[in-house]
Amino acid sequence: MSKILNTYNRKKIAFTKGKGSFLYSTNGKKYLDFVQGIAVNCLGHSNDYLIKSIYKQSKKLWHVSNAFIIPEQERLAKRITQKSFADFVFFQNSGLEATEAAIKIARKYFHNKGQKNKNRILCINNSFHGRSLATIFASNSKKMTEGFYPKVPGFDHFNFADHQGLEKAITKKTAAIMVETIMGEGGIKVIPDFCLQGLRKICNKKKILLILDEVQCGIGRSGKFFAYEHAKIKPDIVPIAKGIGGGFPIGAVLVNKKVASCMKPGSHGSTFGGNPLAMSAGNAVMDVMFKKGFLSNVAKNGKFLISELNKIKKKYPKIIKEVRGRGLLVGLCLYKDQTKFINKLLENKLLTVKAAENVVRLLPPLNVKKSEIKLSLKIIEKVCKNII
Ligand SMILES: *Cc1c(COP(=O)(O)O)cnc(C)c1O
Repeated sequence: MSKILNTYNRKKIAFTKGKGSFLYSTNGKKYLDFVQGIAVNCLGHSNDYLIKSIYKQSKKLWHVSNAFIIPEQERLAKRITQKSFADFVFFQNSGLEATEAAIKIARKYFHNKGQKNKNRILCINNSFHGRSLATIFASNSKKMTEGFYPKVPGFDHFNFADHQGLEKAITKKTAAIMVETIMGEGGIKVIPDFCLQGLRKICNKKKILLILDEVQCGIGRSGKFFAYEHAKIKPDIVPIAKGIGGGFPIGAVLVNKKVASCMKPGSHGSTFGGNPLAMSAGNAVMDVMFKKGFLSNVAKNGKFLISELNKIKKKYPKIIKEVRGRGLLVGLCLYKDQTKFINKLLENKLLTVKAAENVVRLLPPLNVKKSEIKLSLKIIEKVCKNII
């Protein structure tokens, strides 16, 4: 019997190695991996350039405290700010740490301005911002909060796409609105560009901060470095994680100058965050991501995947309800519970993962080959054909 705490319904499969878009199981089978550690391995498995970069750094220095200057961290922060709205970056190890830091910074900002009651964060019901006590109550899904009361106060909620509900929920105590630019776990729900622009306007008008959680949809996943770029807006705070380390655990919170001024030595900290080994992975991911044509290729492949999935939907309109997503963050929304469908894909050697609302998530590596996308489509079509 497994000695691992029983918090996951694990598939009965384990892997010994991976290469690019493929994983090899302990019993010698080869799988097309469109999970990629849930949008984490943005360059696929065992990427040669990532291996080399980490290896090189591992021989020099792994970890030093943030009590000292870490040049690799300075470099990655600078590169991220050059490619985004942000002026400053704080490094951590995971998504929840990044979203939690975003919440802390929003509160601190108004605290320092003398508006001490302006400390509430407005979020979307059934969103996903992580599994800490604060972030589960920010996400507000019953599945995640049940049994973990007392409630962490300070969060208000509105429903996805409910514009009136959003306006009503803003009070004098609202410090920030925090939403995922594209909802991941919630079912690959894209916030349309005009709504993001509307959100920015409301935040400006009410003088509150806009936090866009790009832990899943950021770092190239949507076909741009950040998903908010599609709407041509600038947020105030952006937590990131999943893709930035290419498989090495890194989280970070990005902030603009206005907001950053509230943080002083001692305001926040992290033992492991931004250590040289992690930063070598992050810098290597940046090297690849900003090679000419990389991001436009993600967008192109994403469009191809989504349009081909829509063709399959047309053939099987009773199985597939909707194809959702942007770039290579794609969801196949089914009419029925998606568990059986995912298991059939697995039998046919395609790995996928579920999201809310009967969604099958397709998360290929960002450097996936077109032939691999075609292979996935073949398997998906076969499963549609055989599942009725
Ligand atoms: C995965 C995720 C998180 C949490 O990240 P962890 O590294 O699991 O803590 C937060 N926000 C979003 C949008 C995510 O997809």
